[in-house]
Amino acid sequence: MARTVLCACEDVTLEEVRRAFAEGHRDLESVKRYTGFGTGPCQGKSCLAAVAGELLRLGATPAEIAPFTARPPLQPTPLALLATADPGALPLDPGVPPPAAGPRPRPQGGPLPERARVVIVGGGIMGLGLAYQLCRRGERDVLVLEAGYLNAGASGRNGGGVRAQWSTPTMIRLARRSLALCRSFAADMGVNVWFRPGGYLFLAPTAEQVARLERNAALHRAHGLATRVIDPEEAARIVPELDRRRFLAASWNPDDGVVFPWPFLWGYASRAAALGARIRTFTRVTGFEREGRRLTAVRTDAGRVTCEVVVNAAGAWSKEVAALAGVPLPNRPTRHEILVTEPLKPWLGPLVSVLGNGLYFSQSQRGELVGGMGDPDEPEGVVSGSTLRFLSRFARAALECVPRLAGVKVVRQWAGCYDVTPDNNPVLGAAGFDNFLQLSGFVGHGFMMAPAVTEAMAAWMTGGEEDEIFRRFTLARFERGETAREDFIIG
Ligand SMILES: Cc1cc2nc3c(=O)[nH]c(=O)nc-3n(C[C@H](O)[C@H](O)[C@H](O)COP(=O)(O)OP(=O)(O)OC[C@H]3O[C@@H](n4cnc5c(N)ncnc54)[C@H](O)[C@@H]3O)c2cc1C
Repeated sequence: MARTVLCACEDVTLEEVRRAFAEGHRDLESVKRYTGFGTGPCQGKSCLAAVAGELLRLGATPAEIAPFTARPPLQPTPLALLATADPGALPLDPGVPPPAAGPRPRPQGGPLPERARVVIVGGGIMGLGLAYQLCRRGERDVLVLEAGYLNAGASGRNGGGVRAQWSTPTMIRLARRSLALCRSFAADMGVNVWFRPGGYLFLAPTAEQVARLERNAALHRAHGLATRVIDPEEAARIVPELDRRRFLAASWNPDDGVVFPWPFLWGYASRAAALGARIRTFTRVTGFEREGRRLTAVRTDAGRVTCEVVVNAAGAWSKEVAALAGVPLPNRPTRHEILVTEPLKPWLGPLVSVLGNGLYFSQSQRGELVGGMGDPDEPEGVVSGSTLRFLSRFARAALECVPRLAGVKVVRQWAGCYDVTPDNNPVLGAAGFDNFLQLSGFVGHGFMMAPAVTEAMAAWMTGGEEDEIFRRFTLARFERGETAREDFIIG
């Protein structure tokens, strides 16, 4: 049978684009994620117009085929070349601006219902995971409202790291549960999430960081983890390419891992929908109606829905959504940039992270290096443009760690937002109104926390056991000064 290839880099055919559309991925961004077109070395230069044209023919509207954000580098560029740019001389600007606002894609998923018992604002991993878990427990009257496409927020832009190496018993417990759920996700949900248990290797360049890793490792072992603090020689047996002069010791847990984020959302969404949840994309929440201590309805750009419970799962936009109800959250959205290189032969087992500068990288199932690094000077704001400053900072830090990467070319970069709270712990439970539940503030680890946290939250919401996190991580803790800072954050 003839194959018409639309994206030569990623070998995506006309047939696959048509199938994606038939399965409900109507807009260009969703089709890009579902098929992988436009993610290869040419960055859509050869396929964007062809796929957009086909979607138009299939019935997409012009707003649904708005081109995806153009980002540097213009062509695959070696890390060594990027490292020659002086990051200090490069601006921390918003980066490549998003395309000018035009007509918005039509709401997708069906007409907006007049009422729903539980309305979840935000269709990221938190919102969709909660919808699925609620439905599993028999709460079927659930509506998820997502302003964009699935995977539009941080859940579609992250590094996919899932680790149990944390610094408090609570985080270790949640992460272990998430790791167990990640392991069985593909079988349970019928979607391949490329879970790779290659371990996490934290490198400590200073004696102070080594002491911290040793304290953590003792806690980990007390909670049943296999974490060990190892010397540079042993670390170099796990990753021989590491420059062992750059660190004094490393923390190693072979049971941590990495997943491919996008299919998690598709898995949760399709299973939740099969159990009765309604998911409406391109439907933005614009306000709330209230009566006394309760929210009674959610207003959207597609109409109004009366409800009994509202969950704020809007990630970096949670502060903005809470403000629509007059509830101030202390969350600070902050951009975090990330990149991907050309594919290499398999050489890297674990996700490697360097304490101090926040560098991390892992190798994807397709062989690409996926890595990010926070910028301490990044100001608060929902910004998702890409900068040359990040490329040069990342390149310098990565080459210090693994000099042999010098010739490896960066193919693509993107950005999302961390949803940062003052103590790096989430905001959970009711806030402002008795039926306005928060599920936000997951900084740079919400993806790995979502499977466990949404399971616990659904149990609590349906009359089951109340996990201690719903008492400890309330908004009121900030007023009471009962915060315990989580400081084992990457980036
Ligand atoms: C570059 C990067 C790397 C990361 N790496 C990791 C990692 O390795 N491991 C890890 O565990 N975590 C990582 N994270 C963090 C993780 O991605 C987030 O914590 C997690 O995805 C948050 O999920 P969420 O569902 O709360 O938010 P999101 O996925 O952002 O979803 C919120 C959704 O709400 C929608 N929304 C906003 N406003 C409205 C509105 N008014 N009405 C309706 N919908 C609205 C948005 O469109 C969005 O889709 C990383 C984050 C970034 C940015």
